[in-house]
Amino acid sequence: LLRSSKTFKPKKNIPEGSHQYELLKHAEATLGSGNLRMAVMLPEGEDLNEWVAVNTVDFFNQINMLYGTITNFCTEESCPVMSKPIKCSAPKYIDYLMTWVQDQLDDETLFPSKIGVPFPKNFMSVAKTILKRLFRVYAHIYHQHFDPVIQLQEEAHLNTSFKHFIFFVQEFNLIDRRELSPKDMFLKCLGRPTYEVQSTDIGLSRAQNNIRITTQGTYWCML
Ligand SMILES: [Zn+2]
Repeated sequence: LLRSSKTFKPKKNIPEGSHQYELLKHAEATLGSGNLRMAVMLPEGEDLNEWVAVNTVDFFNQINMLYGTITNFCTEESCPVMSKPIKCSAPKYIDYLMTWVQDQLDDETLFPSKIGVPFPKNFMSVAKTILKRLFRVYAHIYHQHFDPVIQLQEEAHLNTSFKHFIFFVQEFNLIDRRELSPKDMFLKCLGRPTYEVQSTDIGLSRAQNNIRITTQGTYWCML
């Protein structure tokens, strides 16, 4: 599935043979069948925290790889400002963000990998913050680096990954609807009011499977 092996940060491994590894394999198998709605659902009898943990690690790994393929294009010069409230370049901000996520995933008290070790009470709120921040990286790639993504033929991979991510956060209400509106998110995060969002149903309608993002009349992606 993944053509590139270059990642931005080291890949976060889920140990083979563990229950979480089985959950990951289950998700991959369902994804392979092409049914993303099914792939995000909590498997019967499984713990929601553990399911969210496994998928959060997986999304981190996916974004890590996707951003890893375009880091050469994301520079102080190309992306001097990430967004209005954050006064630093995108590469600096994304580096900080991904390191922060990595630290959370590596924290055994937050993301216990051993069977029988309970998840902390604040697990869901930490997971929500992680997913909200990872969304910003998708948004940045779509907005600023979609051309190299096409050139590198990573477009289908990016779209599938993004769609999977959106379906997952929708399924468990993990990101506030307002945060997920591509219009608001992209305008707020990226500061370039060039988006015309044809369907703002992202995060709104579970029956709506199509997400279209256009900019200045240019067809960007249909997931
Ligand atoms: Zn950039």
